[in-house]
Amino acid sequence: ICPRESEFGDLLGAVKQKALKVVNAGAHYEAILLGGSGTAAVEACLSSCTNESGILILENGAYGDRIKKICDALKIKSHLIKSAWGDALNLSEIEAHLKTNAKDYNVIAFIHHETTVGILNDLSAINNLAKKYQLKTLVDAMSSYAGIEIDLAKDDVDYLISSSNKCIQGMAGLGICIVKKEILNEIKNYPKRSFYLDLHNNFLAQEKTNQFAFTPPVQILYSLDIAFNEFFIEGGIKARAKRYSDLYELMLKGMTELGFETLVEKKLHSKILTAFKEPTIKNFSFEKMHDFLYAQGITIYPGKSAKENSFRISNIGELNTADILTFLKGVEAYLKSLN
Ligand SMILES: *Cc1c(COP(=O)(O)O)cnc(C)c1O
Repeated sequence: ICPRESEFGDLLGAVKQKALKVVNAGAHYEAILLGGSGTAAVEACLSSCTNESGILILENGAYGDRIKKICDALKIKSHLIKSAWGDALNLSEIEAHLKTNAKDYNVIAFIHHETTVGILNDLSAINNLAKKYQLKTLVDAMSSYAGIEIDLAKDDVDYLISSSNKCIQGMAGLGICIVKKEILNEIKNYPKRSFYLDLHNNFLAQEKTNQFAFTPPVQILYSLDIAFNEFFIEGGIKARAKRYSDLYELMLKGMTELGFETLVEKKLHSKILTAFKEPTIKNFSFEKMHDFLYAQGITIYPGKSAKENSFRISNIGELNTADILTFLKGVEAYLKSLN
């Protein structure tokens, strides 16, 4: 299928409208799709979002840290306010910093669902704080978009970023940038720090010619269109968020009964991904439990340098109650095998 034909342009237009609808983005927002993994979309927004002013980065995990690394690679001035990986962001510390330093920044960048540990950062509170100090917000919503309700009519985030392969349940290969139209106009004269990932250039191609600026992963766009259809058929964000949160509750109850403790306090849980402390049970090995479950078709994740040794259980994708029960039986069988 030729991505330069009008037929493909129609598909692109339809997918962009569906992408906007997921987060209730009004006519003042634009969706821009980019070939690449999620990080490409984050890098495109970061590279394009500021002139000479800096970016304030709020970090409580590996993805916040990645934003800092991207800014450093692109030589964008930035400042980091950190919490331990497993703790909430400290809003009073952030506000105290903004009181004297807000003038140095153009943008506050942060992660909505910090997938490193499964913490849901408070998007509304941080967005409101940023707006109070006349700052733009750039939100990595990679693993919350289409899994947790985000309402852009309520929370007027300036740049919201996700990808085709997380809670929207498509195949990997496309980044999704949802950006205010007025901002696209504002950034067009900002310094260019990337050619391929120039957000405004990619926007212009998609807007003016109805084509991607560069060859897109054609098959991924078709699959993403179907993934959006499945999302709306399921009942949209309320239904999907409820399915995920029901699966999470079932998983958490079972894991707690088996003796596992969560790394993060419950009120911060995203209900999308949960980090558990490695138990002190004799002979327990995460790698062995992983391999034991993997042999049964179940994939779980190791921890990611959190404040304590941990491993991670995610419950996104086309999963149902029976899948979670199978998982819990598998963990139980592994624990039994230790004695
Ligand atoms: C998955 C993820 C990313 C992007 O990772 P890629 O491997 O580039 O797709 C970025 N931020 C968060 C919070 C994520 O969960």
